[in-house]
Amino acid sequence: MTEFVVAIDGPAGSGKSSVSRASARVLGFDYQDTGAAYRALAWSCLARGVDMLDASSVISALAGFEYAIGIDPDNYFVRVDGIDVTDDIREPPVSAAVSSVAKIPEVRAFMVDLFRGIIADSEKPGIVVEGRDITTVVAPDARVRILLTASEQVRIGRRSAELTGESAESTARQLSSRDAQDSKVVDFLNAADGVTTLDSTDLDFPQTVDAVVALVRRAQADTQT
Ligand code: C5P
Repeated sequence: MTEFVVAIDGPAGSGKSSVSRASARVLGFDYQDTGAAYRALAWSCLARGVDMLDASSVISALAGFEYAIGIDPDNYFVRVDGIDVTDDIREPPVSAAVSSVAKIPEVRAFMVDLFRGIIADSEKPGIVVEGRDITTVVAPDARVRILLTASEQVRIGRRSAELTGESAESTARQLSSRDAQDSKVVDFLNAADGVTTLDSTDLDFPQTVDAVVALVRRAQADTQT
């Protein structure tokens, strides 16, 4: 098991993925995007015609779910059954369906085991793991636990910049609806005890990465003294 886990949770569009990946690069750590696994499962269900509103069908699909993710921040990929789905899992049909699979308790239990196994396999001095329930469920004992937030307006703006071709209103609708569905399952809008809230509303990307890296360096220094 890698020694130093940095757990980062937050809502859609908070910049979690890019900030986590860049911070991992600066720190010489691995990086695990956990949302990718839920997206990959939703992609696989869409590809196989599995009815995602029927929990038992999704649970059956878990048996044949072959998932691989690159955790080196310089070699990120997502594969399902050997097929590269790195870009496909970001497409709107997957984003629209993913909350339906993520709310199934058996799916969550499967994913928590999967994520812990991937953390255990990391050979770097540390790993940054980002998602919705990392600080509370997947790695509650992580050495650094962060809730990365930003105002809804800023999150919509960041997401619209990523999704060319989508109107701002449609991005706003999708983002709010996904957050509303997801927050019924996991509370990622309020920091749990011992979790540091990092509000990036008024920070640019490098400043947010610096803030994460500073929290990690402080925790590393505390360990050494
Ligand atoms: O982070 P991202 O937006 O890629 O996550 C996609 C979806 O995966 C979320 O909307 C949520 O439904 C689910 N998710 C989750 N728990 C995590 C990470 C993601 O339920 N730890």
